[in-house]
Amino acid sequence: MEKIPSHDITPPTVGHHTPGQNETQEMYAKRRHIYVREIKGLFQKVRRSANWALMMAFFLLPWLNWGDRPAVWFDLPGREFHIFAATFYPQEFVLLSWLLIICAFGLFFITVFAGRVWCGYTCPQSVWTFLFIWLEHRIEGSRLQRIKLDKQAMDASKAWRKAAKHSAWLLIALATGVTFVGYFTPIRSLVVELPTLEAHGWSYFWVGFFLVFTYLNAGWLREQVCIYMCPYARFQSVMFDRDTLIVSYDATRGEPRGSRKKTLTHSQAQAAGYGDCIDCELCVQVCPTGIDIRDGLQYECITCAACIDACDSVMDRMGYPRGLIRYTTENALEGKKSHVLRPRLLGYLAALLVMIATFAWAVNERMPLGFEAERERTQLYQITREGQVSNVYNLTIRNLDNTAHTYQLSATGLETLTLDRTSIEVPAGETRTQIVTVLADPTELQQPSQPITFILQSQQDDTIRSERETRFLGDVRR
Ligand code: SF4
Ligand code: SF4
Repeated sequence: MEKIPSHDITPPTVGHHTPGQNETQEMYAKRRHIYVREIKGLFQKVRRSANWALMMAFFLLPWLNWGDRPAVWFDLPGREFHIFAATFYPQEFVLLSWLLIICAFGLFFITVFAGRVWCGYTCPQSVWTFLFIWLEHRIEGSRLQRIKLDKQAMDASKAWRKAAKHSAWLLIALATGVTFVGYFTPIRSLVVELPTLEAHGWSYFWVGFFLVFTYLNAGWLREQVCIYMCPYARFQSVMFDRDTLIVSYDATRGEPRGSRKKTLTHSQAQAAGYGDCIDCELCVQVCPTGIDIRDGLQYECITCAACIDACDSVMDRMGYPRGLIRYTTENALEGKKSHVLRPRLLGYLAALLVMIATFAWAVNERMPLGFEAERERTQLYQITREGQVSNVYNLTIRNLDNTAHTYQLSATGLETLTLDRTSIEVPAGETRTQIVTVLADPTELQQPSQPITFILQSQQDDTIRSERETRFLGDVRR
């Protein structure tokens, strides 16, 4: 293990070290295995419901069909992204960028409002870790039974339980890997091709990658991912303010903590000088990141509220009011007024709503046709044998619809304009480049450069239409 050299500067009267003595300290804190205790309560009910709903959505979505294709299918080789009725193409990646920006602002908003609530209730790392802990509990028993099992020597019962737990974890991890790849390759054929070795090599790679990734992250690394690997854990604290909802221990009410006879009523305990915390440590035992919330707000806290449910159950048993640990704000804890609707939160909310509205409008108004028209740059214009002025254009037509279209091409701006091509077919989702020659009568050209407009109109759908303005060049001195 790497060591950090350190130089002791403790004054001689304090401590046991000789001043100037060199020593080394561990660079990394040794990991302490966390045996999470299961707890029931209102917030755990909400969290579990959210977790199950998200997992069901993740595992079931790739199995849904929309017509003859998967409802959600990111077809990378075909460069098409199907989301129910809509099909998007790489040219529309600006929409995806908008979506990512909206998600980022959504996260900022929720963090300013309720801290790391995303981490505790919806983050895939937490959702899968809670699922793995749930399985661990079912197979190896309660927290105390698991501690005992890990301490005891290997025997048939321990070997069986460990094997069953890791097999269950690996099975979930495999299902996660297959489902993830199923968003990119139709899952109905994938589950047939994988065992018969007919799937693409990349499918095996990514299934294997997500299998190992899920098994390690949710089974072994767990809170280490949240504490050391997740960048959000590092920067979220700068978004907090004194009115952000956080899980907090009310030290004014809880201290001085201490165990006491259960027969003492609340008022008797108060009269005897006790605070409400009976120092049972249940809040620590249920914490998936292994912290003691009574030490104050810590960046390791993922706001899962397990400690709230644990402490409320203790308060109920003691006959004390609930809420010694609760969702509150720093201002409220100090007895000051909390402002939920503060300018910063309203600013994020306004920005978020504007972006969502713009995005919805852009998707709704999205024309499934991309059209560009550019003059051929290598020549200005030509005079034909019949004395007409000719300009050549490069047209780029992208059919962004999921059916083939035949487009009618026309041009306006000069009365005598004629085109050498008026009909262009483009298959679904494809891009076609077409060179078009446009002729005009020289008598109509009043200037060396005149604006003209190309019009592209689908013959299959009247609403699919696009126009592009460009210039028509000609020598007016003739
Ligand atoms: S669960 Fe409540 S009473 Fe028990 S130690 Fe934690 S804060 Fe104190
Ligand atoms: S301190 Fe409480 S809310 Fe925070 S992670 Fe631990 S149990 Fe969850």
